[in-house]
Amino acid sequence: MEVEQARERLDEVRAHIARAAKVAGRVPETISLIAISKTYPAEAITPFIAAGQCVFGENRVQEAQCKWPALIEAQPDIDLHLVGQLQSNKSEDAVRLFCTIHSVDRPSLVTALARAQEKHGKRPRCFIQVNIGDEPQKGGCALADLPALLGEARAAGLDVAGLMAVPPAGVETAPYFALTAKLARDHGLEGLSMGMSADLEAAVMLGATHVRIGTALFGARG
Ligand SMILES: *Cc1c(COP(=O)(O)O)cnc(C)c1O
Repeated sequence: MEVEQARERLDEVRAHIARAAKVAGRVPETISLIAISKTYPAEAITPFIAAGQCVFGENRVQEAQCKWPALIEAQPDIDLHLVGQLQSNKSEDAVRLFCTIHSVDRPSLVTALARAQEKHGKRPRCFIQVNIGDEPQKGGCALADLPALLGEARAAGLDVAGLMAVPPAGVETAPYFALTAKLARDHGLEGLSMGMSADLEAAVMLGATHVRIGTALFGARG
């Protein structure tokens, strides 16, 4: 993909965000666009960096470790986010590489991340992932466990920025976004990581501060 095409896709997605923000009476600059580059090689990512995009997300630590150190060396302003499930034994690698971790969802991971950030002198921003549709196969803490997990994360010294959610597939997502936003409000959290290519406008209207966009930028994954 050429830089021109990357720029066009970024402009398109930003226009969607701006339109939804306007409807909701929000300022578009308060919404961070995370370009989800999972499965795409470095050659597909560099046109987006050249087009000015600095915020990217990956869902696997190992894949990110292969692709990103060289890209970050070339462009130190890169702000890299982890949006996929994190195994506790990868916590140190994650803390070293990512500025923000969106998938904190259990006490054992809180403990591992707290230890890793102590050891490496880095403190990534964290989102607590909630299993908003109560789906057994999905990551995220159960709604009932959120208050306790949030308390543990704060007590352990994690920099908790907000909540992250992935609503069930194939149904209207707005009610799940609204519920996530309510939970964040109830717990005094400002960050809301929600909205993907298919439902970004609804997410922005309902308060998303971070939208995670893959397909609409990079194309369908193989
Ligand atoms: C892949 C992924 C996205 C991006 O999804 P698209 O539909 O391609 O925009 C967002 N969030 C998470 C957690 C993902 O794994």
